[in-house]
Amino acid sequence: MTINSRTRKLLWGYSGNRCAYCKRELIMDTTTQDDESVVGDECHIVSDKSNGPRYNPELPIDEIDSYPNLILLCRIDHKMVDDQSEKFTADFLRRLKAEHTRWVAETLELATFLKNLHVTKSIEAAFLKVKSSMPELIAEMKKDLTKEGNDLIREFFIVSKRWTLNVVDHYFVYYFEEHENLQGKVHVLENYGFVIDVTSKNVNKYRLTEEFIDLLLTS
Ligand SMILES: [Zn+2]
Repeated sequence: MTINSRTRKLLWGYSGNRCAYCKRELIMDTTTQDDESVVGDECHIVSDKSNGPRYNPELPIDEIDSYPNLILLCRIDHKMVDDQSEKFTADFLRRLKAEHTRWVAETLELATFLKNLHVTKSIEAAFLKVKSSMPELIAEMKKDLTKEGNDLIREFFIVSKRWTLNVVDHYFVYYFEEHENLQGKVHVLENYGFVIDVTSKNVNKYRLTEEFIDLLLTS
């Protein structure tokens, strides 16, 4: 009898690398001197041996090593549930496993949610900072975007009024004369990832990101 690699992957994956009973981690990370250490066991809920824990002659032999008949436990809890199989019945272990896999899924979901929330909050904080340091430029960008027919425009030039600019259709234009230290302000926007430098032919050209546009339009 052997557990195939697909079943093992399912078991370790759905268990989140943790004991279903005490929830301790079952693979210790490598250290500078040592390899990782595996302290987990792939345990049978129903033993295939007639004198083994929770033996049930009705369980088909090909289901012994299948995912539903396995539970991941640490060495200590493996010994405990096998030594005390009257208390730790097959039903008890199945329920324990189901609750544990639900706990793993919920914990991971919560972790992802909190991470996303943190990212959103820091982007919003960056936008507020930018808005207070260059209110006129931000207001002009918002006005440009909300003008009829401009909703698909994404790129802008920064130029001097003294230069002749041929292409102005489908672009926004901001002038050095109207915004003090315009280049510096645009660099700040670029550093925050709100605009991307797409300069070509020596004319400073930038592209607004969708995220920045959303922030501008809802500000
Ligand atoms: Zn344990």
